[in-house]
Amino acid sequence: MTDEPDVELEARLEEKERFDPPEAFVEQANVSDPDIYEEFEEEWPDCWERAADLLDWDEEYDDVLVDDEAPFYEWFVGGELNAAYNCVDRHVESGRKNHAAIKWEGEGGETRTYTYQDLYREVNEFAAALRDMGVEEDDVVTLYMPMIPELPIAMLACARIGAPHSVVFAGFSADALATRMNSAESEYLVTCDGYYRRGDVLNHKEKADKGLRSVEADVETVVVDRLGDELTHFLGKRHHDYDELVAEQSGERVDPVSRDAEDMLFLMYTSGTTGKPKGVKHTTGGYLSYAAWTSHSVLDIKPEDSYWCAADIGWITGHSYIVYGPLALGTTTVMYEGTPDYPEKDRLWELVEKYAVDIFYTAPTAIRSFMKWGKEYPDSKDLSSLRLLGTVGEPINPRAWKWYYKHIGDESCPVVDTWWQTETGGMMITTLPGIGTMKPGSAGPALPGIDAEIVDTAGEAVSPGDAGYLTINNPWPGMLRTLYDNDDRFINEYWREYSDSEADEWVYFPEDGATIDEDEYITVLGRVDDVINVSGHRLGTMEIESAIVGVPGVAEAAVVGGSHEVKGEAVYAYVITEDGTEGGEELYDSIIENVERAIGPFARPEEIIFTPELPKTRSGKIMRRLLEDIANGEQLGNTSTLRNPEIVEEIQAQVSAE
Ligand code: ATP
Ligand code: MG
Repeated sequence: MTDEPDVELEARLEEKERFDPPEAFVEQANVSDPDIYEEFEEEWPDCWERAADLLDWDEEYDDVLVDDEAPFYEWFVGGELNAAYNCVDRHVESGRKNHAAIKWEGEGGETRTYTYQDLYREVNEFAAALRDMGVEEDDVVTLYMPMIPELPIAMLACARIGAPHSVVFAGFSADALATRMNSAESEYLVTCDGYYRRGDVLNHKEKADKGLRSVEADVETVVVDRLGDELTHFLGKRHHDYDELVAEQSGERVDPVSRDAEDMLFLMYTSGTTGKPKGVKHTTGGYLSYAAWTSHSVLDIKPEDSYWCAADIGWITGHSYIVYGPLALGTTTVMYEGTPDYPEKDRLWELVEKYAVDIFYTAPTAIRSFMKWGKEYPDSKDLSSLRLLGTVGEPINPRAWKWYYKHIGDESCPVVDTWWQTETGGMMITTLPGIGTMKPGSAGPALPGIDAEIVDTAGEAVSPGDAGYLTINNPWPGMLRTLYDNDDRFINEYWREYSDSEADEWVYFPEDGATIDEDEYITVLGRVDDVINVSGHRLGTMEIESAIVGVPGVAEAAVVGGSHEVKGEAVYAYVITEDGTEGGEELYDSIIENVERAIGPFARPEEIIFTPELPKTRSGKIMRRLLEDIANGEQLGNTSTLRNPEIVEEIQAQVSAE
């Protein structure tokens, strides 16, 4: 029963602030020696050899790090390797060819399994097809596909021939595709006819064709047939059918191209939560080492695991932790095409049971939906195969963390709250599950070898508990190398130079606000511009949201600042209730009470607006910018990157009615 508060959970877990990793987990963890932090510090930057050692190199590197042209850092300089070889061939060669590499489940329950041998064959044949089409080393190939196996196959085929890929999330519009193709001067596109979404057939080819009309280059297109006869589509002059192309290459093998460690592996545009998306460049040696290392140390992936990251490959999370990291380690990566609530709200848990998933990685926005739907869905499935849980994408409030820990992990799986970005290539701040005590709401300490600090506007470290800017003082192998074709913006957007008597130092600014505690655990508050200034008190939106979501009956909340005559800014809270709870006066009062108790009377919301949904980007992040416009009664900004644009008007109507 959803509306009945989980009394036992409330009582036992509510007050608990620290959780130690279970003994059984620690005993088997890939990394469990706490000395690793000190060792990395002492050996830096050579500590990163441990990451590089997880890969097979065609040519050994001469230097771990070259910083002559900082912040254009170079990693594993002189080394050569191929990413597809590392993710596929070497597992075939080491006698694991019949081990499952990808287990795919379609929305409607179709399944496909690719062993490493199958993947080897497919990747080779498609690589041969791309070459035949004229794709050369360093040509950018755009991949505009939903979660179908041909997407990772195409990524690896590109990597095999040294052609960087640029994956555009399938949910993006025709315009978004065109902008990204033009920006990358991409002349090749791999897409598909269509796909299923909650039982409906989506015509993807039509959208791709529309986008192509605004692309400057004369594009050569490959179309994957996902739907069979359900949707007829027309192949134009420069359009090829994927199956035909691959059939022509049956049995073909393409030697993996030795790429320089610093050669581009792929280009990825950020999700565009704050503004114009940025074309982030990632490299072959540094990125792949870092994805493999964090998959090993944080996700604790072992080759025999059944591992599932329920993200979309169209985001960096899917690149690093569905494709490159797990496949580099030779594990089985589960891939799911559909949504979590179709046909029923137990779909994900059904898949965890079916694939006996060991490690599950998802986003806080998904966890808040699971909470809203109720625990009976996970309770009805056998989730006992799970060993480790993870989250990424946004701060996770303690109540959602505890719900995940209890109802999905049965209090026996560590939860890693991983802070990172498209730009960082892989995880940066989180507890190591075999070592660190977990504190719900706080991501944890910076990973070994990562030097994170919270500073004020003058660049000085803040005291524990005070909010400041999150900064990273040292480079790391997975870092972006530049923004595509825009070195100036790369420097301006992310780096600041400080000079002292000894040397110039470059510091990386992720543009996130955070606090740090006595144990050096970092709590990410949100983006720097998500800080509200109420009567001189600087409040992180996340902190207030967390207090609101801590009230039983509340599923999700978004807090923004609206201008206020007296206070400068005032707190506006948009609140979604759990299924079965009414957003009435009683709940209103409990929210106010909880915020005042948790933070202080100055943080008291000026207004609370109950709404069935929040405006979200296609990657599931709350678009606060629009909620601010509503609070200020202003003209609304751009809504085109929203997943649910209609909700904005609905909220607006409600606010002006009050
Ligand atoms: P854009 O940069 O285009 O505005 P974006 O920042 O949403 O979009 P991503 O790179 O996908 O694009 O997201 C990274 C951001 O997500 C981080 O800077 C941070 O604000 C947030 N984030 C990710 N993981 C966490 C986490 N575990 N805790 C708190 N915040 C997180
Ligand atoms: Mg960002």
